[in-house]
Amino acid sequence: MFTDAIAGRRVAASQLCGNRETGAAPSAYAASGSEARRSVKTVTSQIAQHFAARDWTNNRRSLVQVACTLPAFVAGLAAMAATVEDAYWATLLLAIPTAGLLVRLFIFQHDCGHGSFFSSRAANGILGRLISIFTMTPYEHWKRSHAAHHATSGNLDDRGKGDVPTITLNEYREMSPLGRLGYRIFRHPVFLLGVGVPINFIILQRFPLGEAARDPISLRSIAELNVMMLAVYGGAMALFGIAPVVAVYLPVIVVAAAIGGWLFFIQHNYEEAYWRHSDDWTFHEASLAGSSYYDLPAVLHWFTGNIGYHHIHHLCCRVPNHRLRDCMTAFPELNRGAKRLSLRESFGCWKFALWDDDARQMISFKDAERSRS
Ligand SMILES: [Zn+2]
Repeated sequence: MFTDAIAGRRVAASQLCGNRETGAAPSAYAASGSEARRSVKTVTSQIAQHFAARDWTNNRRSLVQVACTLPAFVAGLAAMAATVEDAYWATLLLAIPTAGLLVRLFIFQHDCGHGSFFSSRAANGILGRLISIFTMTPYEHWKRSHAAHHATSGNLDDRGKGDVPTITLNEYREMSPLGRLGYRIFRHPVFLLGVGVPINFIILQRFPLGEAARDPISLRSIAELNVMMLAVYGGAMALFGIAPVVAVYLPVIVVAAAIGGWLFFIQHNYEEAYWRHSDDWTFHEASLAGSSYYDLPAVLHWFTGNIGYHHIHHLCCRVPNHRLRDCMTAFPELNRGAKRLSLRESFGCWKFALWDDDARQMISFKDAERSRS
């Protein structure tokens, strides 16, 4: 049993956050003395090594997940198609649970990319590519950029690799008024989730941008998905017409992209977030202090493929979605090292848009104005 195997490490793990009663916040953990910080790093590293040493794949559980989700998603699309002519309001209502199922499928693709969903690399590749047609996200390309995100998350000197663009207070102050306005618009939830993220999924991911243009694997992956999408969506449009296909799938991908964008945002963007320069940055601290534990209701954990246990996922990406909770239960100490966010608390995180390097915390635009006066 996993729990038995780690029992000997429980005492060491309990050192993670010192005083159990106080439930110290990650900022306090990060700001603790150098000896305490060294101890935290050692224990976290031991737990991460323990996670990494084990094969977490469970093909049967993964297959059951796919068998429950993929047909339900297709049924959702079929129900939407059945109502598109006579009751479009019903089509739009049905788009919400269907988009939720697409988010869950995205997490399966994500796990395939980490090699944690099936024990077979080929099986991960096949399912990941199949799901990518629906998520409109090129499998191999995203897998590579997402691996870079895991390797650099929270590193101030290595930003722009799969993270939500974030600037420091000093960088904001050095910007032109137009640049500041642009950043404020970009960071606004209506723009980011309602416009920016859907455009990224539907349009930008069709093109090799930035480093992808110089990477043959990414180039092939993007081209491969474009061809598959042309065949699937083009075929559907030839059969049913362009307007019905757009009327059914556009709301699904827009809602799913917005939910996915929100999850990605809240996983690393909160007041006590972790941003450090390279000489002070460590992978284990970035994983634990820089990734939230999004404490969602059970039904939302299901739809979002348990990605709310993000601190565990960053500590060991080889743990598939259906085992993350087991790990959290086995090492409750890890939760005290991470930032726990309830659904209600998470909505308050929108205002945090700038990293204050001196205060070592995220601040709002209002805080930035205040600190200048
Ligand atoms: Zn990941």
